[in-house]
Amino acid sequence: MDLRKTSVMTIPEEPPRSLRLRIDREALASNWRVLDRLSGNAQTGAAVKADAYGIGVDAAVPTLRDAGAAEFFVAHWSEVAPLLDHVEGSAISVLHGVASEEECTFARATGAIPVINSLQQAQIWTESGGGPCHLMVDSGINRLGIAPHDISDPAIQALSVDVMMSHLASADEDSSQNTRQLAIFQEVVQAANAKRFSLCNSAGIMLGEAYHFDLTRPGLALYGGIAHADLTGQIMQVAFPEAAIIQCRNLSAGDAVGYNATWTATEDTRTAVIALGYADGLLRQMGAGIALQHGTDRFPVIGRVSMDMIVIDLANSDVKEGDFLSLQLDLPEISQRCDLSQYEILTSLGQRFKRS
Ligand SMILES: *Cc1c(COP(=O)(O)O)cnc(C)c1O
Repeated sequence: MDLRKTSVMTIPEEPPRSLRLRIDREALASNWRVLDRLSGNAQTGAAVKADAYGIGVDAAVPTLRDAGAAEFFVAHWSEVAPLLDHVEGSAISVLHGVASEEECTFARATGAIPVINSLQQAQIWTESGGGPCHLMVDSGINRLGIAPHDISDPAIQALSVDVMMSHLASADEDSSQNTRQLAIFQEVVQAANAKRFSLCNSAGIMLGEAYHFDLTRPGLALYGGIAHADLTGQIMQVAFPEAAIIQCRNLSAGDAVGYNATWTATEDTRTAVIALGYADGLLRQMGAGIALQHGTDRFPVIGRVSMDMIVIDLANSDVKEGDFLSLQLDLPEISQRCDLSQYEILTSLGQRFKRS
């Protein structure tokens, strides 16, 4: 029998995976509460784009909702449906806005709110029937958003704006760009016809009350990222990757490991192959200098990181095939050592992890 032709084949239950991403929901909820407290009188939303920064929407969104978050930000319309299992459409904002009639129709059908980013988007939304929307004003990042002086354009005046927002370019730094963007935003707030105002991402929250307005939009710090030095000690790690040993081997002096033989044994060495590679987010430049852990034992990665595997030096440990080892995902440390942003490290965590 050719199984490919049996369209009604029931797919059997998947065997347990050799990659797990343990999500500490308590830490996630605690991080939201910390950011909510730091947001003062402003409401605190949650950026959950890119599958909640790699953490997984199905774990993150209910946890954030139960902690008290009422507004969720995604970038693409394709990210709306997975959220609808957990929150009302009207709690979802789509940062890329509406570029077509199809997107307007989808917005109306789901109740998700577009963030209008240009005069053209404003026209598209109004012509398709209008309704509540948010508005992005560019105060200096030169990414998306209308120019401040376009706030009085008839296409913008015709909108029914709930949240008027802007986005900070350098909130993670002590930069004069922050005060410049704040001043520009404050000026547009005076001229704007919106119910609420919002300027801060995670790092922006740390810039103080003047930046908070009515709503903050943290992302990175919810998921354990130290978005601003002042958050050190207040934000807890949320994602704990774990990977299984799929084979143990005994090498002799002279045996080389992995692509391009970048590591060679100088003596008899016991090694293990782990089911974790760069396709799962352990990028090549993260490999050197990283260790996996089992209890208090630490095992350095040796040789190159492959797509689906790494090799570790087991030394005298008695761990065995099938055991799970944990990867210490110290975001600020890896970020600094590997010249990667904490955002990149999190959003690279792949789809092969069983998120639990
Ligand atoms: C991604 C994003 C956020 C969240 O930013 P973090 O730095 O992750 O806290 C907030 N607002 C907008 C417009 C975004 O694109």
